[in-house]
Amino acid sequence: MPKSYTALKASESNKRASLYIHIPFCNSKCSYCDFFSVTDHSLMAQVLDKTIEQTARYIDCFGIKHIPTVYIGGGTPTSLPLKLLEKLLASVGNLPLESGSECTVEANPETVTPELLDLLSGSCINRLSLGIQSFSNYTLKTLGRHCDFKTNFSKLEVIKARWKGQLSLDLISSVPGQSVSDSISDIDTAISFGPDHISLYALTLEDGTPLARSYDPDSQAIDDNVWILAADHLDISGYRRYEVSNFALPGHQSEHNTRYWKLLPYIGTGAGGVSTLHTGEGLFRIANLPDLERYLASDGLLCGAETEEITGKSYIFEYLMMGFRMTAGILKSDFLATFGRKITDVIPETLAIWKARNLASETDEAVRLTKEGLLFLNQFLLDALSELE
Ligand code: SF4
Repeated sequence: MPKSYTALKASESNKRASLYIHIPFCNSKCSYCDFFSVTDHSLMAQVLDKTIEQTARYIDCFGIKHIPTVYIGGGTPTSLPLKLLEKLLASVGNLPLESGSECTVEANPETVTPELLDLLSGSCINRLSLGIQSFSNYTLKTLGRHCDFKTNFSKLEVIKARWKGQLSLDLISSVPGQSVSDSISDIDTAISFGPDHISLYALTLEDGTPLARSYDPDSQAIDDNVWILAADHLDISGYRRYEVSNFALPGHQSEHNTRYWKLLPYIGTGAGGVSTLHTGEGLFRIANLPDLERYLASDGLLCGAETEEITGKSYIFEYLMMGFRMTAGILKSDFLATFGRKITDVIPETLAIWKARNLASETDEAVRLTKEGLLFLNQFLLDALSELE
């Protein structure tokens, strides 16, 4: 085992690590999506077997003793036939999950059936994250989604009647042609099904996607104000914003994602999955190959994954980049414990300037961006980065 892997196994903090499992299959490809997923399901069973095997190997080789959260994402994990999904969930149930661990599976509405919900209910899964995106047929068509309003609505009724776990709904705002009232209407319909958590993403045109090719980025087709006003509507509806795009009823924030934003250790298995572990001096990132054939053909501990060590200023910058996404900001005590320096000594000028403009605030415990400041997160990070250098 190379030296750095020995350090990963020796690190006390890696003994408690979250698990992300990437299922890179979808029933169809949405026009805005740049996640790694394929619609050809011919290698599904082999890829799933290799993912289960890789998960067990990572847990063993990296010395993981406690798993506080699990997230099965993709792709569309529920595009797996029920027999394969059952096999995956049984294997996850045998891992060292902490009592009460948050275990989420992502689903798309067209895959929701009473049988699927019964399978999830009888497994370790206690949180369902459903990609609704919109209830407007026009918006769904623009996004290249293969669900219409009727499917989204009827599948949520099945979930409401049968699912007893937590429910998170994904919505997209600032879609070309979508007005403020369209987005607010999506939110109100989503809330009528009583989710604990809502993710409201502002559409970004990712390079290389069909949607990006069909819109001129300078055409003003995408109105950011739609997202801003929709986010305000969620907040006044009782869903408190706790991260740039995430809102929850009190006590229902996603623990798994919060651990990402705090740069706590996690392993990511499956083709395209990414892990971030602690080395004692920084982070060790492992990015599994986003290619099914090569993932299947590779062997060894990492299945051919690319690795990267993140130390020094890069580590501090990543910590700032993730931590300032949260409305609670960065706890001064956490920063000091991680880097042995006060955050107020690391980026004093940036904090002073942004506080003077009422775009950042500081208490005895934390530093954070204000609601207005979060709109300019990227600029804040650029300022912090130039101060670090
Ligand atoms: S269902 Fe999700 S992962 Fe699959 S293509 Fe659509 S956005 Fe991408």
